[in-house]
Amino acid sequence: MSTHDRDRKRTGQVKEVTSLTNPIIKDIRALSMKKFRDREHVFMAEGLKLVIDAFEAGWTVRTLLYAKAGRGNEAVEKLAARTVASGGLVLVVSEKVLSAITRRDNPQMVVGVFEQKTLPLDAVEPAAGDVWIALDRVRDPGNLGTILRTADAVGAKGVILIGDCTDPFSIETVRATMGSVFAVPIVRAGVEAFLAWRKGFSGRVVGTHLEGSVDYRTVDYSRGATLLVMGNEQQGLTAELAAACDTLVRIPQAGRADSLNLAVATGVMLYEIRRDVLPLDDRS
Ligand code: SAM
Repeated sequence: MSTHDRDRKRTGQVKEVTSLTNPIIKDIRALSMKKFRDREHVFMAEGLKLVIDAFEAGWTVRTLLYAKAGRGNEAVEKLAARTVASGGLVLVVSEKVLSAITRRDNPQMVVGVFEQKTLPLDAVEPAAGDVWIALDRVRDPGNLGTILRTADAVGAKGVILIGDCTDPFSIETVRATMGSVFAVPIVRAGVEAFLAWRKGFSGRVVGTHLEGSVDYRTVDYSRGATLLVMGNEQQGLTAELAAACDTLVRIPQAGRADSLNLAVATGVMLYEIRRDVLPLDDRS
């Protein structure tokens, strides 16, 4: 029986679980492996505030786990009641179980198991002023999580994962997003599908490349939509993707480093692209 079937049988329930051999706990622990996340189409996210925010943003919680210490905590109990009301399963667990699930010595009090959500490429129809980020085979979960967080911070519309990328729903990536995985639309696309879609993209396609001849600060990003294309950590952009860009820009460097870290380079680019539309008083 799959996790989904097991959960369905227990929807709208609250159960107490302390054993690591409990079959539901075993299924949730298996979510540390991509093949189980993909099979069940779910992922884990930790932290009370993060789970509440995800709930508010309309994400479906399939299972909510919280530590016994959370009993009597108003926010936790309210979240548990909402989970039950929406047909989810609530598990009150020991700290040992939470540690095993999250692989952390000091786990957060709350963990949510959410349904994965991605957008198809043909749903991406950028309007003037929109910024999308395309990542060529990003391999590092920390980089991907940081990029999703930065994309959220600058108000980018979403991230397109091209080719064989690290899983945006792994616990490492989700942790690094600090909740932005729930705010930034994610698209997965093969190279061919991306290149075909790119032909219909009417905005500016800006690739970043160590051999780019254009200073990234000299491009006018203010008109139309921008698609920022970033290369793989080891190999940079493929020749095919580089050729599909309108401009290849470079970020100047001094010193010994060959290149910037991918997430840092993405951050530098995004803040330049969004320079004129991010006044400081926006958040006051
Ligand atoms: N050895 C790789 C190469 O030859 O491209 C280094 C890749 S770098 C770690 C990862 C990505 O970050 C690059 O493909 C590019 O998109 C971006 N990047 C890093 N430093 C950059 C710079 N100085 N100018 C433009 N893009 C840069």
